[in-house]
Amino acid sequence: MSWESTVTYYQIINKFINKELGGLHSAKILLYSVDFAEIEEYQSNGDWEKSADILSAVAKNLENAGADFIVICTNTMHKVAPQIQRKINIPIIHIAETTASELRIQNITKVALLGTKYTMTQDFYKAKLESAGIEVLIPDEQGIEAINNVIFNELCLGIISKTSKEKFRGIIENLRKQGAQGVILGCTEIGLLINQNDTVLPIFDTTKIHATKAARLSLEE
Ligand code: GLU
Repeated sequence: MSWESTVTYYQIINKFINKELGGLHSAKILLYSVDFAEIEEYQSNGDWEKSADILSAVAKNLENAGADFIVICTNTMHKVAPQIQRKINIPIIHIAETTASELRIQNITKVALLGTKYTMTQDFYKAKLESAGIEVLIPDEQGIEAINNVIFNELCLGIISKTSKEKFRGIIENLRKQGAQGVILGCTEIGLLINQNDTVLPIFDTTKIHATKAARLSLEE
């Protein structure tokens, strides 16, 4: 979610598998692409349980179809990961836990988090980082609003704007001045706009981290 970032997941996973196995090898993937409009409506109404029901049914279908594990291709919907996990017997590879491990490897103890307003302001995501000993910095109210608007009104629709890129760069720079040692692109579409050339801080793109983890895991026995 949105399908714009699903494309990135699909490419990263297939490229990883091809690099590891060579030849014409590609990834075996069961992809269930949802109608993001339905999910987004539940998000903005605060009706998280309904979106949990939809995603639990999807996860169950994937389990029945033979999936070994589930990757939910959005940071925000990890808010309902515990509800989904309770309905299935295969593991969910948690995007924030995977990202926290990567931060620990790079010795980052204070990080800037960019994502939807839900991801930046609520606890479900930050708590995973904090319990790994990582302090989380988020933008001020104006910054939160600006980032959230760009995600839903531009990036999820495939719109990449120079003005928004500059806005994001300014926000990242402010967080760097507050002591951030790295920046989490904690929304799976932000990587469409921001890359390592946009900041001196090391970037942790959750789409890349999550997709690579899934591809790596799929090769394990
Ligand atoms: N893909 C985004 C994320 O990683 C936002 C869309 C959504 O609300 O799921 O949070």
